[in-house]
Amino acid sequence: MKSERNLLHAQRHIHALAVATECAELGARIRTIQLLTGLSAGQLHQLFRHPLGGPRRGRHPDSREWYHNANLLCRTEASIIVVLVRRLASRGIDPPLALIGAYRHYLNFCKTQPRISFDRAFDLVAHTTGRWFVTARSFSIFTCPTCKSEYLTSLSLAPLTNHECPFCKLLNRHTKDPRIQAAYPRQTLQRDIQMFWISACWCERLAPHPPSNSP
Ligand SMILES: [Zn+2]
Repeated sequence: MKSERNLLHAQRHIHALAVATECAELGARIRTIQLLTGLSAGQLHQLFRHPLGGPRRGRHPDSREWYHNANLLCRTEASIIVVLVRRLASRGIDPPLALIGAYRHYLNFCKTQPRISFDRAFDLVAHTTGRWFVTARSFSIFTCPTCKSEYLTSLSLAPLTNHECPFCKLLNRHTKDPRIQAAYPRQTLQRDIQMFWISACWCERLAPHPPSNSP
């Protein structure tokens, strides 16, 4: 019995180290990795003694105000990531692994420099789901009645029209804004923009694979 407990403890620790390494590769700060894995700052500093562009230090982003003041492309990409995480988590994938899988998918499909950092993605998901360090949610995911895309909005809001939908705005502004054209080439617009990002995520190969010893 004691040896089983020891084995389980070792498996959990190995899993946490694997998650920490993936987070570090994606540019996460130490605090983010701590919150996602339960490892201590001391353990992480020891693990990433010689990081290759490894975890950054410094102030963690707070997205509660940021999201509402962010530009259209940031709001669109923030919504994409959170929706991806939710879809992966709904398939039973552990939330930290869902975040890692969604963020990798986001990076793979970015046509320009990513606007959302891993720390930002973590913070957005935390404030939408009320998990990790958050006790009170600030965002919910709303489905646009016009384009059917899902996007982040304030927790208490349930818009009756598409006036807040970043995806509808993006479509309307596409011909006038070179930044939007760079991020979303014309062929993308022939399909639903959100599905352009999300559809491939349904392939099993893009979902993160937890280690076999995952607790
Ligand atoms: Zn819309």
